[in-house]
Amino acid sequence: MYDIVVVGAGPAGLTAALYARRADKKVIVIEKETFGGQITYSPKVENYPGIARMSGSEFADMLVEQVLSMGAEIELDTVNGICENPDGGLIVKADGADYTCKTVIIAAGSKHRTLGLDREEELVGEGVSYCAVCDGAFYAGKDVAVIGGGNSALQEAVLLSEYCKSVTLIQNLPFFTGEAKLLEILESRDNVKFITDTVVTSLIGEESLTAVELQNSQGEKSVFETDAIFVAIGQKPENDVFKDVVSLDDSGYISCDETCITQTSGVFVAGDCRTKKVRQITTATADGASAAIAACRYIDGI
Ligand SMILES: Cc1cc2nc3c(=O)[nH]c(=O)nc-3n(C[C@H](O)[C@H](O)[C@H](O)COP(=O)(O)OP(=O)(O)OC[C@H]3O[C@@H](n4cnc5c(N)ncnc54)[C@H](O)[C@@H]3O)c2cc1C
Repeated sequence: MYDIVVVGAGPAGLTAALYARRADKKVIVIEKETFGGQITYSPKVENYPGIARMSGSEFADMLVEQVLSMGAEIELDTVNGICENPDGGLIVKADGADYTCKTVIIAAGSKHRTLGLDREEELVGEGVSYCAVCDGAFYAGKDVAVIGGGNSALQEAVLLSEYCKSVTLIQNLPFFTGEAKLLEILESRDNVKFITDTVVTSLIGEESLTAVELQNSQGEKSVFETDAIFVAIGQKPENDVFKDVVSLDDSGYISCDETCITQTSGVFVAGDCRTKKVRQITTATADGASAAIAACRYIDGI
């Protein structure tokens, strides 16, 4: 039996495993896709204290290595439920196995939002992308657009503007909500253009994307030619599999405060999957530490 099963190997889950191992607990981290979580898609991390600049995947690699060297187990598997163990404790049910444990830390993060347009899924990889780090190089020397105006969108645009012929940021609001420093970099680049107060209303192209239809706040429509769009309009949680165990807020995040202790005995939560205002690596790692310490206290009965 594990002391702690951590669901998700993003910064929150890996930090939780690190703290739990330092308390000498038997820990396994179960990850369904990418060891390191969403940060692996970030071209540059420049806001984590103590690290001036590093790619998200380098950051993730270092964290995974640190956690493994501390003696935590990491398994590639998809968790699809948590239930009470009739013999005591909990059972984490995954596609590949059932994991019996004393406590669970849910650190399942969040996923990119889609535009919700017809043929969006069909055109993924054919001009529709959600990750400049992953797909940007395919569009070197081409004209691309980034949809969104927050930090992720601005970061994607900075990266793409380094090798694409042109990058157009298309934002539904009249202003950009990302960091001023990123906006300054983009404004200083000749190949970057900005369209505000405008939404993408349809995707145009047969086998691959050739253009998008835009609509501005006055309702005027136009066709904007582009070789690709990179959609960066925020994240949504994937907490459905946990909804019978913990309560979710109206947006689907796990309801919990800074203590990371849920209403369910033995179940803790950390990182982007919980109700909170700021979703960053710093807040995810802080949660990982809090959740692990709370879980250790629960196990030790203190
Ligand atoms: C493009 C981009 C750039 C970013 N840049 C920055 C930046 O520069 N600085 C910064 O501070 N933050 C940045 N962020 C935000 C940062 O990445 C997140 O805040 C952070 O990764 C949250 O960590 P987390 O561990 O809570 O969740 P995640 O990183 O989302 O990790 C959760 C993990 O859980 C796994 N999982 C989910 N459900 C299950 C399941 N049922 N079974 C098993 N595994 C599951 C997921 O596959 C995922 O790997 C960026 C995000 C993106 C997308």
